[in-house]
Parts: sequence; structure tokens; C-alpha cells
Amino acid sequence: MKDTPHPTSRPTDPVDIDMIARRLPKVLLHEHLDGGLRVSTLLDLLQQRGLQAPAADEDSLAAWFDARAHAGSLVEYLRGFALTIAAMATPAALQRVAFEAAEDARLDGCVLAEFRIAPLLFEPHGVSGEAAVEAMLAGLARSPLPTGLIVCGMRQHDAAEITRSAELALRYQGRGVVGFDLAGPEHGFPATPHAALLARLTERGLPLTLHAGEADGAERVLEAGRLGARRIGHGVRLAEVIGTPKGAAMLDEVRSMGLHLEVCPTSNVHTGAATSIATHPIRALWDAGVSLSFHTDNRLISCLSHSDEAAALVREAGFSWEDLKRMGQAAADASFLPGADRAAARATIDAWSAAA
Ligand SMILES: [Zn+2]
Repeated sequence: MKDTPHPTSRPTDPVDIDMIARRLPKVLLHEHLDGGLRVSTLLDLLQQRGLQAPAADEDSLAAWFDARAHAGSLVEYLRGFALTIAAMATPAALQRVAFEAAEDARLDGCVLAEFRIAPLLFEPHGVSGEAAVEAMLAGLARSPLPTGLIVCGMRQHDAAEITRSAELALRYQGRGVVGFDLAGPEHGFPATPHAALLARLTERGLPLTLHAGEADGAERVLEAGRLGARRIGHGVRLAEVIGTPKGAAMLDEVRSMGLHLEVCPTSNVHTGAATSIATHPIRALWDAGVSLSFHTDNRLISCLSHSDEAAALVREAGFSWEDLKRMGQAAADASFLPGADRAAARATIDAWSAAA
């Protein structure tokens, strides 16, 4: 006898979850352009530049990234970036990658996106920081999706290089660059030595989002907030203080500073910052009332889309569509894009219903 599907059982159907996840209006605040290329584009760019690809066709190259992502090693995970940086190191390639990232996000149901990258990484390959930023802004501008670019300074670089990154961000502030970030290895490279630089950026009205509380502890999240960050990349290790004697005061401070966490669950599993989506600290942080949203970090390196991330949270971490909608609303409010773009994204999300 054939079962008649009951209407209320439909949202648990895996096909429906994927379909609703694609329809969900999403706000992308945390994606690295050098970690999010299309596999086909990477292969094409490597061939154009005469660079050795680790695999000869798209399927094999995707499998190569998948193996690195699931190796449970940050070193393996990061190997892909050497490849993408080399492949992207021409103005034409940078423009193409930025345009395709915006279009991929738009076609995946994104209503507002901020992308980030460290432009100075292309200088050893002969592309100046200015040329890199201009090429990526030109690429983003070709997409109808409202977008902005966050300039990253790399923590492992010396202070002069980080200052140069920040000055580059200021030069293009108001022309597509919407914020500044400190990325790269967190452990051993704290943000506090850059306090004066970060203060100068916030005085000039350039918002900060800092990677913190991913590879290093919860106190790094508070440190970033005290240094002027409005958002935190990851911040998931903040969950470790929940229920500890000093945890309540730390969480109170995070909430009173109005910090918004850009959580990237799948990336955390791949780098070892979390063991699974089902046990990911996003649940504990959400239940503790911390403002947060979900993001991809690196679509190519982690082999996923923003919709995949949404579907995984519903399927494996027990979140409802209403929870994800509220995360999107918080993300739109926390975006560094102009007010009109934020308001338009917010209105689209407000009007959305999973049942429609
Ligand atoms: Zn990141």
C-alpha cells in the first residue's frame, strides 16, 4: 500500500529542506573570495596561466578539495589557498572571480553579500594591492546583487603590511570597500598590538569585523569587541564559557557591546574547531541569546553553498526555518552596506515564509 504524504511531514523531507533552503533569503557576511571560486573557473585560470593543477578535470579537482576539507587538518585545508591565489593573480581573473561569486550568491537566494580578501597576497605575483581591489570592485559591480568588499590584513604579516592593508581599505572606503578584518592564523597573533591602527579605522568610520574565537579562546572575542569590532568572524569558542563562573559576565559583555557573530559551521568542522554540525556550538550560543548568523567561509575549499549550510542547520542541528529567518534579519541589520541596501534586504527577509 502506498503512503499518502501528510502535509505536515513535508518539511522534514530532505528534498524539501534543500528546496526551502535555496528559497530562504540569505545574507552573506563571511566568505573569502580566494576560498570561493567555481571549480570550473579555477581549472580554467590555472590552465590559462600555465600552472599545474592537482587534478585534470572538474570532478577530480572537486574531489581533491573534498579530500583536503575532510582531512581534519588546518594545514591540509589551507593548501587550497596557495592554488587559488596563484590562479587569481591577474586583474582580469580577480574581476571574474568577484563577479562570479556575487552571481553564485544571488542565484543561491542571497539578497545581500559582503566578500573579503587580503589584496596584498597578490603582490608577490605581480598585482598591486590597488589593482587587485579595483579589479574585484569592478567584478562585484557587474552583478545586480548589493555587495561590498572587506579588506583583510593577515595576522602573520608584519605591522607595516597590516597598516598598508588598512590604508588600502580607507582609500576605497565609500567606493565599494565596506570594512576591515584581521584574518589568518589567530593563535599567537593577537589583535591588541594593532589597537592604535584599529582605533584609527573606527574613527574614520570604517567598520571592523575581526576573526576571533576560532583557533584561539573565548577571551579573543571580547578583545576584538573592545578593540572596536562590530562583528566577529566565527567567535564559536565563546560557547566554551557558557555555564562557567565567569561565563555570564562575558556573555553579558558580548551582548551589551552588540557583537554579531559570523558563524561558519561547516568550515569549523573541516578545520577541527567543531566536531560536527549536530554538536556545533552555534546551538548553545543561539540559546544563550548571542546575535549570530550562518555563513560559508570558503565555498570551494569546503565544497558547499550557503543553502547547503542552511539545510545542514535544519537537518542536523535542529534549527527551525523561523530561527534561520531571524539569523538573516540580524545579519542584514549587522551588515556594513549602506542603509538602503540593508533595509531592502531586511524587508525581503521579513516578508518571507517557509510555508509560502
Ligand atoms: Zn574566515
